[in-house]
Amino acid sequence: MYAHPASIPQPPHTAGKSLQGPRARISPEQIPSPVEVAEADEETWEGKNFTTLPGGHVPLSTTDFMSIDQGNSNPRFIRATTWNIPNSSELAESCQIPIAAVVQPFADLRPDEEPVPVVYCEDDSVPARCEMCRGYVNPWCTWISGGSMWRCNLCGHHNHVASEYFCGLDANQVRLDYYERPELSKGTVDFEVTSAYYAAHPPPRINQSYYTPGETPASSSSRQPSPMRVLFVIDVSADAIQCGFTKAACTAIKGVLFGAETEGGMRMEPCFPSCCRAGILTFSNAVHYYDISPSRDDAAMLIVPDIEDEMYCPMMDGLFVDPQPSRNILENLLNSIPDRFALTPAASATGAALRCCLASLARQGGHVLLFQSSPCQTGPGAIRVIPEETKLYNTDKEKQLFVPRDQCWRDIGEECAEEGIGVTMFLGNGSLAYLDTASLGIVPTLTGGDLHYYPRFDPLRDGRPMCTELQRVLTRTTGYNAQARVRCSTGLRVGAHHGAFHQRNPTDLELGIVHADAAFSLSLEHSSTSALSRRATLDEREYAYLQCAVLYTTIDGRRRVRVLNVALQVSALAGNVFRYADTDATVCHLAKEAMSALPYRTLSDIRESLTEKCASILLAYRRNCAAATAPSQLILPDAFKLLPVFTLALHKNRSLRAHNVSSDLRNAHAQRILSSPVHTLLRNLYPRFMALHDLTDDVALPPPKEAGHENDDESAPIQMPSLMRTTYTGMRADGIYLIDNELLCILWVGSRVRPEILQDLFGINAVHEINSKMMRLPSLPTRLSTQLQNILLHRSTERHGVEIPFLIARQNMDGAEVELSDMLVEDQNCGAMSYIDYLCFVHKQINVALTNNTSVASASSYGLRGTPW
Ligand SMILES: [Zn+2]
Repeated sequence: MYAHPASIPQPPHTAGKSLQGPRARISPEQIPSPVEVAEADEETWEGKNFTTLPGGHVPLSTTDFMSIDQGNSNPRFIRATTWNIPNSSELAESCQIPIAAVVQPFADLRPDEEPVPVVYCEDDSVPARCEMCRGYVNPWCTWISGGSMWRCNLCGHHNHVASEYFCGLDANQVRLDYYERPELSKGTVDFEVTSAYYAAHPPPRINQSYYTPGETPASSSSRQPSPMRVLFVIDVSADAIQCGFTKAACTAIKGVLFGAETEGGMRMEPCFPSCCRAGILTFSNAVHYYDISPSRDDAAMLIVPDIEDEMYCPMMDGLFVDPQPSRNILENLLNSIPDRFALTPAASATGAALRCCLASLARQGGHVLLFQSSPCQTGPGAIRVIPEETKLYNTDKEKQLFVPRDQCWRDIGEECAEEGIGVTMFLGNGSLAYLDTASLGIVPTLTGGDLHYYPRFDPLRDGRPMCTELQRVLTRTTGYNAQARVRCSTGLRVGAHHGAFHQRNPTDLELGIVHADAAFSLSLEHSSTSALSRRATLDEREYAYLQCAVLYTTIDGRRRVRVLNVALQVSALAGNVFRYADTDATVCHLAKEAMSALPYRTLSDIRESLTEKCASILLAYRRNCAAATAPSQLILPDAFKLLPVFTLALHKNRSLRAHNVSSDLRNAHAQRILSSPVHTLLRNLYPRFMALHDLTDDVALPPPKEAGHENDDESAPIQMPSLMRTTYTGMRADGIYLIDNELLCILWVGSRVRPEILQDLFGINAVHEINSKMMRLPSLPTRLSTQLQNILLHRSTERHGVEIPFLIARQNMDGAEVELSDMLVEDQNCGAMSYIDYLCFVHKQINVALTNNTSVASASSYGLRGTPW
């Protein structure tokens, strides 16, 4: 925290705020270090298995742990904000911890973890479900009456066992087929279900905006699951073609379908799932369909020019094909698209194009991958006037920038979600500064898709990241036509949900697609009955249960229900609630909640309430668990000692930052946080930062081969360099540092780096000779170069092959230094305080509340709120 004598002055950054008034005395040892906490947790779980029975501490979300499912879902799937649920609303209120859970139903497992078992259900008696609450049978149900009844762990109802599902019990009241049936022993299972679970057709809308040929299905009928259809939709408007975005999109699509050479000499291997069917649509001021049947010589283009009217699909066959037999047609088409439209420049009609997607995919569902490079300029949802948004910054009207401009965007998103269509967007603007992510972004948000945004798209810099992100989107576990519902045991009830989905009623989430990189959070409340409301509603001697069921169709057309179960301990003691609290899940839940509030509350209000929440939790710990300590002393509960630094990092995130950030960027970051899994969010908030100039021989290199053991260390994990705290105070002018926050990677080169290091890394002798525009480092036959290549490869593997833009920042020379400096969250920057000042500020809020015996919110009214920001 305190600068080393050899350290550099703070590099250029966006201004921060400093603490007003007297500074509380906090010694540096009292400042919890995220790096140390993460390292200690890695050490704890290295070589050890985490078993999921309730009662223990859970590894951090960022730790690489191996989990064994003992009837509770792996924490990768569900993380609670505390693993000891307070037994009453009174205790919950006095602890101030939000009682919530973050669910990532299709999270990737480690390769050595047991895959999620599939239970094949031939008849309607399986999966067994509770007659009362419709919960699914799970390891926490109890079997009674010799196996002819079961008691639901969620609602307590006694259910009859169907004769086909009956099985006798052993002396411990365990079913004799316990080991044959994964649903009786595993926390996470997939049921492959019968036609009773097929998706229903949504009720017809008044003023339907599109028309699908063929008979209208009866509302009572359901849709037969089928392999997923993927529709690539490409913007061919003038701007998209001019900035090279259309060409980059076509190259990326060619790459995933058949393999291709992309910018910078990267080879893309084909990865389009062989069971899926692909179709292509392009649009400018009209929408163009393509018949790509393998029987044709060339793709035939059918144009739908009337974009203001009801949209329709002009063809029955030839729109979706197996790409392999149509390879020549598709390759010729994708090669010709960028030139074909260059001669007739036009504006883009994104709203109409999306309605065409609806017309093409309705009644079946599917996945739309939209490549877009300009705001929607014509047709439904067109933007008439680009807002002068700088005039709205820091005013009450700024909120307008975070909602769709036109209701039609929300309608399109809802219609897609209800029809089982997920929309994933790749947005990259060229000359037009404004893209209107608030309008476009609502569609992926409502359909469970994600949004990839490349501001000022540069094919050289962003082409490669876009290709790898597209690869990830097509290869990760995905389902479509999905619905999710969380049930909890009696005594609790599910409150608000936050994430990327469409919610038609308070309990069910509709998702066009579900995928491995999406997570949503939900809050839990104690169910109350008027006068008895504050009494304990949960029994400490029993567990509290959560069950999340996701009904979905796999990409190869199987209808399944993924069921996740968690049993949580119940406690009447605040000490236990704090002891088993989970900072990672808490930060993720609070972040998602904050993003949901963007359309309703001002940014400063959201930031202030995050700080208040953080201070209230720490104050509650003081009052409940450390009342005897002097108020002047800073006391942080072990489980929440990193809460202040992550809350501060959230203030500095582009979605909430107190500096002028374009609404396009804010919305893109907010959308990402809304759907982000816990570990990705935490790595985004607190970047990984490391020094490269002093790496030793044993770091980032495969261990030396021993004589006689030629082949055994090929797959041995390499040791990564230890991380540094994210502050300039540890940086030196003769050093080289690497920082990455999951979205951007920057290599910082000090002004006094030794020529030998520059030779090893770049093959040059002086800092000013470095080409700061390089997108990749040269690969040289030196130890340091190999180490750095290995580190970058390791990072990309952790992101499942996704590459992020790479920038060089030379000390006092390159603009990218500001980006790097703003990523150092412990420093004073981005319109917010340094970590130590922030800790003093939170401490002061707690002190005032303790001294006046009030809550943090009322302590703020003593003049603290509003002052520092
Ligand atoms: Zn039940």
